[in-house]
Amino acid sequence: MSILNIDFMDDIVEACHYFWKAGWGEFHAGNISYLLSDEELSKLKDYTEVLTTVEVDFDTQGLEGKSFLITRSGACFRTMKKRYEEDLGIIQFHKGSYDILWGLRNGEGRPTSELPAHVLCHRARLSDDISNKIVMHCHPTYINAMTMIHDLDEDEFTKTLWKMNSECCLVFPEGLSVLPWMVCGEGEIGPATAKKMEKKRVVIWPFHGIFSSGSSIDDAIGLIETLDKNAQVYVSVKSNLINSMSDENVQELKKHFNL
Ligand SMILES: [Zn+2]
Repeated sequence: MSILNIDFMDDIVEACHYFWKAGWGEFHAGNISYLLSDEELSKLKDYTEVLTTVEVDFDTQGLEGKSFLITRSGACFRTMKKRYEEDLGIIQFHKGSYDILWGLRNGEGRPTSELPAHVLCHRARLSDDISNKIVMHCHPTYINAMTMIHDLDEDEFTKTLWKMNSECCLVFPEGLSVLPWMVCGEGEIGPATAKKMEKKRVVIWPFHGIFSSGSSIDDAIGLIETLDKNAQVYVSVKSNLINSMSDENVQELKKHFNL
């Protein structure tokens, strides 16, 4: 039986393909991590064994024993359906290291270079929402465009999107975070993103992309869809913007929907 017969494995492969179709995961862009429950890990027991152990130089406190399904460094989302054993992996954390249990081309490949950002974001989100399962990073076109023409103050950025459509107030009533531009990959950007994720489900990396999280794949994708759609509206009308919801209108939504 193929490992893709296990529902959440197939769901992740489909999510990767959707990222590419949506234009958010060009070439090697985009990465996904999915926190496996004990029950989900047990469904994978016929496929998993310790293939290799990799030491890490970030703080693994709170991650020990946790297992993730994660995309490979250099994975291509367009071809994920054909190359899932190469471009996906299952890893399990221990103090200062993780084991590769499946995939990543028989354990010889490595998870995304954004691995620290992913797992530190999981830890941060779990401290706020115990149901958090997923962290996604991708390059939504219009969010990126909006970071090039809008003030990067996160409160101002949030308010502008709230005013584009009442759906934004409903989907991300807590607002979103925006980091200053930083070098991506391993390094300071991981802990900085995780710090922002202690309170918010979305962190925008200006001129690069977005980190989104949620209790399901659909939640995390839905957040990105809502943000990118409304960033598209903003970018489309920016030069001629005359009307949008007022600050008072946003307050009315907050009151009406008890947000
Ligand atoms: Zn990226």
